[in-house]
Amino acid sequence: MSKDLGQRFDVLVVGGGPAGIAAAVRAAECGVRVGIVDDNPTLGGQIWRGTSEEEDQEEGTKEAAKWYRRFGTAGITALCGRRVFHQPEPGVLLAEGADDLFELSYRNLVLATGARERFLPFPGWTLPNVLGAGGLQALVKSGLPIRGKRVVVAGTGPLLLAVAAYLREHGAQIPIVCEQAPWSSLARFTGALLGQPGKIAQAFELKRKLAGVPFVANSWPLAAHGGQTLEGVTISRAGKSQSFACDYLACGFHLVPNLELPLLLGCQVRSGFVQVDDFQQTTIAGVFCAGEPTGIGGVDLALVEGQIAGLAAAGRRAEAQELFGARRKARRFARILDRTFRLRPELKSLPSPETMVCRCEDVPYSRLEQHSSWRAAKLHTRCGMGPCQGRVCGPATQFLFQWNPDSVRPPLFPVRVSSLAGFRAGAKPEQPTVAGGLG
Ligand SMILES: Cc1cc2nc3c(=O)[nH]c(=O)nc-3n(C[C@H](O)[C@H](O)[C@H](O)COP(=O)(O)OP(=O)(O)OC[C@H]3O[C@@H](n4cnc5c(N)ncnc54)[C@H](O)[C@@H]3O)c2cc1C
Repeated sequence: MSKDLGQRFDVLVVGGGPAGIAAAVRAAECGVRVGIVDDNPTLGGQIWRGTSEEEDQEEGTKEAAKWYRRFGTAGITALCGRRVFHQPEPGVLLAEGADDLFELSYRNLVLATGARERFLPFPGWTLPNVLGAGGLQALVKSGLPIRGKRVVVAGTGPLLLAVAAYLREHGAQIPIVCEQAPWSSLARFTGALLGQPGKIAQAFELKRKLAGVPFVANSWPLAAHGGQTLEGVTISRAGKSQSFACDYLACGFHLVPNLELPLLLGCQVRSGFVQVDDFQQTTIAGVFCAGEPTGIGGVDLALVEGQIAGLAAAGRRAEAQELFGARRKARRFARILDRTFRLRPELKSLPSPETMVCRCEDVPYSRLEQHSSWRAAKLHTRCGMGPCQGRVCGPATQFLFQWNPDSVRPPLFPVRVSSLAGFRAGAKPEQPTVAGGLG
């Protein structure tokens, strides 16, 4: 593969959510050459997707608009719709686009690959219209009509309330929001928010938007029912079961970090998160990490970590240091989130023997429980070897059986045969052109 046809950056950022945008902006404002690559058609990540620099009515979109405006004037090369899947050699990444392959070289790298929802298997969870809470929100943002539809929201984490409020604003009926955490944890969570006026304001806003919607703690989905598609849900509520008719079940059990790329690069991971130093540098020199892969902490933590990583990657350590105090405060919130929304052991008994755990390869719970490790289960059942490459069943089996996933190997995502042949046989990658944009 000829490297001179690729594009070279002083700082390359992978991931165009709040952490990646903040990193790219702060680095580019220091005068270095910055590129940002994201696999979605536009930047914004999970939370800002679909917002733009013009939208400034609400607090959240105001913040997004501010960053988009800075992004627009910082001279950053945005490479949207391209997914990084391999590092053929240190300092070089390969990204696949809709019909092309790119080689991206860098001096310093910022990994801001975000998080995804955690799904836990229960009878009926693979029925059509049982969706991730954030997944359903993303579909509605992309135009799925939700007006008049009944949506049960269940699982755990603050995302449930954000999604319920969003869906209700867009015309959905929300019969109930079920949170598996106990009231005692939620009360401590509310108490811990008292020192954070911004979060209190958000909580009141959610309360207003969800007025009249029942919110129950100690509650989780037991089964989803239906023929061709979802028709209803049975939940456990304070030890009793209760059924609801509904059109959608929006269900997620908090978030898990996207660690595949950091692991591929050899970054050390401890207690499930990428290990970083004060300047967000990983255990690999010149490779920084920011946002959800270093700890699930919400948008404020993602923004401050992104800024520190971007400044440090551009060589401005003194400026980065000025943000350490803000990061300390944001990290406190991450610790509270982790404690509050820890999964309760009862959820391990949700799947029946027939419940599919690996939905890509149709592997039921009964076949998995015969094995003692992720590797053995993979070899004997093909669990985790389908299109999602264990992104769904990996975290589920980690919780159900305490299995640890294997090492990560390229390609990180299923890619076209031509992309594999391209870098193996030395074919020339495309010269990237600026693609995609904001919001
Ligand atoms: C489904 C979902 C919905 C959410 N909705 C809300 C909400 O409504 N309100 C709220 O407060 N918080 C929400 N969150 C939480 C929110 O995303 C975080 O608090 C915060 O925005 C994280 O920012 P980030 O930059 O770390 O990651 P993200 O915003 O997740 O951005 C990471 C980006 O990196 C891209 N990426 C990852 N790997 C690659 C690769 N190999 N190649 C190219 N691109 C890659 C991803 O596609 C993504 O666009 C949601 C989270 C999820 C998972």
